Amino acid sequence: MDFELSEEQEQLRDSVRSVLERECPPAVVRAAYEGRLDGEHDRLWRVICELDWPAIAVPESMGGLGMGFAELALIAEEMGRAVVPAPFMSTVAQFVPMVLETSLPEQQKILLGTVLDQGAIGTVAIAEKGSGWDMSRMSTEARRTRDGWVLNGTKSFVFDGADATTILVVARASDDEGIGAFAVPSDAVTSTAVKLLDPSQPLADVELRNVLVPDDAVLVEPGDQKGAAGIRRALEQATAAVAMSMTGTCRVIFDSTLQYAKDREQFGKPIGSFQAIKHRLVNMLIALERASSLAYFAALTIAEDDPRRSIAVSMAKAAAGDCQRLIVQDGLQFHGGIGYMWEQDLHFYLKRAKSGDLLFGSAAAHKANVARALGLAA
Ligand SMILES: Cc1cc2nc3c(=O)[nH]c(=O)nc-3n(C[C@H](O)[C@H](O)[C@H](O)COP(=O)(O)OP(=O)(O)OC[C@H]3O[C@@H](n4cnc5c(N)ncnc54)[C@H](O)[C@@H]3O)c2cc1C
Repeated sequence: MDFELSEEQEQLRDSVRSVLERECPPAVVRAAYEGRLDGEHDRLWRVICELDWPAIAVPESMGGLGMGFAELALIAEEMGRAVVPAPFMSTVAQFVPMVLETSLPEQQKILLGTVLDQGAIGTVAIAEKGSGWDMSRMSTEARRTRDGWVLNGTKSFVFDGADATTILVVARASDDEGIGAFAVPSDAVTSTAVKLLDPSQPLADVELRNVLVPDDAVLVEPGDQKGAAGIRRALEQATAAVAMSMTGTCRVIFDSTLQYAKDREQFGKPIGSFQAIKHRLVNMLIALERASSLAYFAALTIAEDDPRRSIAVSMAKAAAGDCQRLIVQDGLQFHGGIGYMWEQDLHFYLKRAKSGDLLFGSAAAHKANVARALGLAA
């Protein structure tokens, strides 16, 4: 496993960063917060599609760029840096990996085609209120009928759930045979946008009432163990991408706090010269580098299909959660009163980092996963 970025990967990261600096400055994020995005939302997504970022990890044989998860993760980090209000995390970090991991070639052609050729938004619905992303406790039910599978239940925290064309729903068979994955068109469900902490990353509740899924739209039949493993692998990719995105966001908070500590003078000195600030800034950097290193490690285990990928992803998400707690708390504190101001951009980053901990399992949930992987019984 090579921990250095290759020249091509550095070029990719730099070019993504410069595009986002140009196309998604904080004024665009502010417009999303204040409901003034209008056509900007679509424009930003069009730019992302024109640059083929949704195709980054899709094999060339399927019309993709043929790169891997390491490159996808680098883009996710930049998405977090720029707090991008566009459906990248839903479509590229969730929908595309789920399609690639679970569906048949003819299904892949159709589902990926809508994204790569038409710029359609896709998403994945796994989480539910009460059980979060723990698929062993989900209650959305799939019942086998003569005409196909019928889905009933309500999904929560669905990224871009109100804007997606296709939603890949993970549900449990009514006879408890296991989990399955089903491609559902958005007009077959009721999606309600949910106001949460970070308005630049829209989430929705998705209600499924007797939604009939024909056999050709079933990606994974409940009971198919290989298919269920594919669902888990896709969830690992989404989780690692969120961890990368969180560390990207946390780095901006850290950089801004460091600069403020150097510039802001009180008692005739920069506040960063006071031990109470200096030592805590060092702790912030250590937490950030730990989270960032674990997120890169998780991304590489996925890229190389390393057997440690599951525990690596949980360690990365747990470290990202711990990192955001410290960085958000001290970053806000050290900016003094200005950090509380709506007019200051800092709160976009604080809210994106904080909400990241709540998505795809909190630090506590992922620490429990690591404990289980270590053979520590509950
Ligand atoms: C919601 C809100 C309401 C407010 N309402 C009022 C109001 O009604 N009236 C009013 O006058 N003010 C008000 N303020 C302003 C408030 O008094 C100041 O924000 C506060 O005194 C901090 O000053 P500052 O913002 O300039 O931060 P800075 O002085 O820039 O401090 C930045 C950081 O450095 C730390 N720091 C500074 N000096 C030292 C040191 N020597 N050792 C260790 N750490 C240090 C601070 O604790 C802080 O974490 C309000 C602020 C907020 C957030």
